[in-house]
Amino acid sequence: MAKRTFSMLETFLIFLLVMMTAVTVALLSILFITSGTIENHKDSGFPDTQSSPATQSSPTTQSSLATQSSPTTQSSLATLGSTTTEGSTVTNGSTATQAPSVMSTPEPPLFQNFSGYHIGVGRADCTGQVADINLMGYSKTGQNARGILTRLYSRAFVMAEPDGLNRVVFVSVDIGMVSQRLRLEVLNRLQSKYGSLYRRDNVILSGTHTHSGPAGFFQYTVFVIASEGFSNRTFEYMVTGIVKSIEMAHKNMKPGKIFINKGIVEGAQINRSPSSYLQNPESERARYSSNTDKEMVVLRMEDLNGAELGLISWFAIHPVSMNNSNHLVNSDNMGYASYLFEQEKNKGYLPGQGPYVAAFASSNLGDVSPNILGPHCVNTGESCDNANSSCPIGGPSMCVATGPGEDMLHSTQIIGRILYQRAKELYASASQEVTGPLAAAHQWVNMTDVTVQLNSTHTAKTCKPALGYSFAAGTIDGFGGLNFTQGTTVGDPFWDTLRDQILGKPSEEIKECHKPKPILLHTGELTKPHPWHPDIVDVQIITIGSLAITAIPGEFTTMSGRRLREAVQTEFATHGMQNMTIVISGLCNVYTHYITTFEEYQAQRYEAASTIYGPHTLSAYIQLFRGLAKAIATDTVANLSRGPEPPFFKQLIASLIPNIVDRAPIGKTFGDVLQPAKPTYRVGEVAEVTFVGANPKNSAENQTHQTFLTVEKYEAASATWQIVHNDASWETRFYWHKGLVGHSNTTIQWHIPDTAQPGIYRIRYFGHNRKQEFLKPAVTLPFESTSAAFEVVTS
Ligand SMILES: [Zn+2]
Repeated sequence: MAKRTFSMLETFLIFLLVMMTAVTVALLSILFITSGTIENHKDSGFPDTQSSPATQSSPTTQSSLATQSSPTTQSSLATLGSTTTEGSTVTNGSTATQAPSVMSTPEPPLFQNFSGYHIGVGRADCTGQVADINLMGYSKTGQNARGILTRLYSRAFVMAEPDGLNRVVFVSVDIGMVSQRLRLEVLNRLQSKYGSLYRRDNVILSGTHTHSGPAGFFQYTVFVIASEGFSNRTFEYMVTGIVKSIEMAHKNMKPGKIFINKGIVEGAQINRSPSSYLQNPESERARYSSNTDKEMVVLRMEDLNGAELGLISWFAIHPVSMNNSNHLVNSDNMGYASYLFEQEKNKGYLPGQGPYVAAFASSNLGDVSPNILGPHCVNTGESCDNANSSCPIGGPSMCVATGPGEDMLHSTQIIGRILYQRAKELYASASQEVTGPLAAAHQWVNMTDVTVQLNSTHTAKTCKPALGYSFAAGTIDGFGGLNFTQGTTVGDPFWDTLRDQILGKPSEEIKECHKPKPILLHTGELTKPHPWHPDIVDVQIITIGSLAITAIPGEFTTMSGRRLREAVQTEFATHGMQNMTIVISGLCNVYTHYITTFEEYQAQRYEAASTIYGPHTLSAYIQLFRGLAKAIATDTVANLSRGPEPPFFKQLIASLIPNIVDRAPIGKTFGDVLQPAKPTYRVGEVAEVTFVGANPKNSAENQTHQTFLTVEKYEAASATWQIVHNDASWETRFYWHKGLVGHSNTTIQWHIPDTAQPGIYRIRYFGHNRKQEFLKPAVTLPFESTSAAFEVVTS
């Protein structure tokens, strides 16, 4: 056989092949060692199932830690996180979060010899309806959604111990508050998908408290009324978004580290009930330099290679920079801070996209306003910073606090940027690593019936829910509408009679219990069509090493938060857990309005009138949270009673606004341009196009598009249109103008930033119209439209 000789080219190719193989093997080894991709864990046992981490075959093997179990047993998967949690005292029936009865020993994750946690982050859209629904927060009739300024997101963080045994989930959602119904449904779906991996005790859902998100996701009658009905469309959208964010976090878990930092934020908040704060004992106030909590707590999350994963920040401030004249759905100042942070970390991505997740979560914001210029009489300009927030001329309706900006959008940006800047500094210098075990404790409590041990000889009780007169007054951030005044301690015969006629008389027992609150609505005694307020609430703590997150089912005032933090910290210390950092996480799990101190309660401003379980509500919570802290510290969580399960009501009252078909003017169709863009704009101007519209609520049940609009730039080199903005961008506004019998217009604005590149642009509109043919079910049909191209010039 003739000897085969290789050409130069062949020799080179063989060499290249050998080198590439070597490099590939080396890279795979490095990846295997450093990332600890647990998805590959099973592969070590089953070489024939080799797959990339992105390849997931079934829900049960969907990801990282979830796949630690043997692939054949769903139940072993479920046991991964259940060690410290479900109580042995469980006696009642099936629940949304009950653990499966079959338990097996979980296999440890492959990669577990490191200090830190498996960390996953996820963000998903949860905007819901942006039309034909009230905005949640100000309870102002007629303040309904008519478009969108920014999208709302659910931001989820999953953390697990290196051995994969214990895990906790923290979710911050751009909504007014988490409702009980929302929470129960989310837990239900998590259970369906993950067994008992994610449960009532180790999942916290917290609302940012934006007052510019849609309402309609509640089951208790007070909130159904404030929402003007229940919206299944919005509810579904939110549940889906929250669950999706958790799924994303679950899927992309990787070994990493958490660093904590704290610092003071100046110039972002004022106390909106300073006279109430002054009711607290002088000796107590003397310990603090301010009547608001100025400390921001920041968590920095990164993987073992130092690649940044996410941020959680907690800070006490009401997201009410956008006032009650706003009609565009948006995430307010806290959402703007998230937006800036994520835009910076997700370079090259549109808002709402990219792997990095930054949550700005709520805290003890009950009496904290971002409208730092304070309350003034809008008619005379005088200060109305008094105990009744009332003006000499015009009364309380004239007393309004304003923010630092020229208008509410500007104020939102200023406050949001302050939060973002400070978080950025604290994040950059965060060097204290959080280490130690994860734990979780949770109870359902009947808050109408808690006996509080005031001291060694005296006890007190919580009350059935009731709202006081000053609840109807609203606040300096949003007046209530009728002529009610904050600080009212005596009822009014006119309103009392009206209430008695319509709703019946409150019992002597409830009146006595709530004193000195004059009861306007005895919600705890109203049960038609469903109870007006919750009896059963969640109390919950999760701990991440030396950090304890207390999940508060409402809005604590500044001093309430301080008392709870101190009491919980002391409780931990008493039982051997020294120097714990306690964070108040606000608006969690179920909404119960406000919680003031006993002393603040006496002044009966808005926050006190909205402390629905009576004067001892805070003391009850302190007692309950101390119980949870003790259980964690003494490793006796399993002995905690589970408590009574909250109800899940059927047949809620739906919105009275009918779903009607959309109609275009004769000779036109949906998306036709009615008012074109100008041919040319300068940077700093506003490009605007008006289209034949359709009700955007159709799009909340038909997610063929993730955005109502795009702004696109023509790239000559590639002859393509590149998307530069979507409807989550702060620069864009989507206004929906409702006309008669199904007719509507849509106006899209692009506030062209000074940084915009000169060039050719266009605006696109994506919608859904509702159509119904005779004797057929209604359908929603997607449509889209594009403006004529226009030019942007810099001067
Ligand atoms: Zn509030």
